[in-house]
Amino acid sequence: MSTEIQAQSCPQPSFMETHKFTLLRNTAYILVILALIVIPELKIAKIDLAHDEAWIFGEKVSVEDGLMPVVMAVGFFAILVIVMNLFNGRVFCGWICPGGWVAEIQDLIRKRMYNPRSQALSKAGYYIVSLITAVLFLALFFNWVTDLRVFFYSTNPMFPWMWAAFLSALVVVYFEVFIGKRWCRTFCPTGIYQKITPYHHKFKTTMAPQFDLSDCGSCRECIKNCPMALDPRRMAYINDFYKGIQACIVCGECVDTCKQVMLPQCKEPLMTWVTDLPERDPDFIAGKVKKTK
Ligand code: SF4
Ligand code: SF4
Repeated sequence: MSTEIQAQSCPQPSFMETHKFTLLRNTAYILVILALIVIPELKIAKIDLAHDEAWIFGEKVSVEDGLMPVVMAVGFFAILVIVMNLFNGRVFCGWICPGGWVAEIQDLIRKRMYNPRSQALSKAGYYIVSLITAVLFLALFFNWVTDLRVFFYSTNPMFPWMWAAFLSALVVVYFEVFIGKRWCRTFCPTGIYQKITPYHHKFKTTMAPQFDLSDCGSCRECIKNCPMALDPRRMAYINDFYKGIQACIVCGECVDTCKQVMLPQCKEPLMTWVTDLPERDPDFIAGKVKKTK
């Protein structure tokens, strides 16, 4: 943290207190990924195009019948996106989308390996890490529709088709993984859909009304940690495709971050959740810091 930690005279916060949303979100993401692995692995719903077989709840069925639960799973996620967006904006992106989770992890790796000061070797390493992540991520979905061993058996008639489909998808997924969270900010079709269709934000993060920007001093930690590159203190007042509340994924990282900054200094966190936005003057919304404090 860039903010200097001052002398302590209060009980120090627990890790859980300052990382509540990080922990909850990661738990939700991991459960979704586990479901994506377990469902086809246990043959609860799986199609194997390479061997013209399918299973529903462990029972072998025709490929045509096996398609139904896969289509239903896709439909379920599509409906989930629409309903969640109507209730609380891009909450799907911040809590459920496996692609969003992978992009966040990639962003963390990217900061270490692929920044302007990185050595060429480190940058090359990031290309390789991104490729491994992209392949694993894609395998997660291909496992729903084929026995993955088909990729190693050239005698199988589906061998060239599977490789063609996999490599075509890999081009897009590699790009997504390589650029990390910028994919979610700019390119993701699901993200764009949620920005341009009707949405509502019941819960949103903002700076608590008793504070203003001058209370932050030189700290900009919530801005640095926001996965969507927003200014969390005032983004809820801004109507903008990239910089406003449309872009917010309701992750709560800004609330956690402000606690990590303020609580160790025995100060009240500035960031909070609200259901109704407090009145704010235009200078605050424009990001002007008052000089009187
Ligand atoms: S503004 Fe806060 S809740 Fe919204 S995306 Fe950024 S860190 Fe997450
Ligand atoms: S709101 Fe909190 S974390 Fe964000 S800049 Fe101000 S003090 Fe720092």
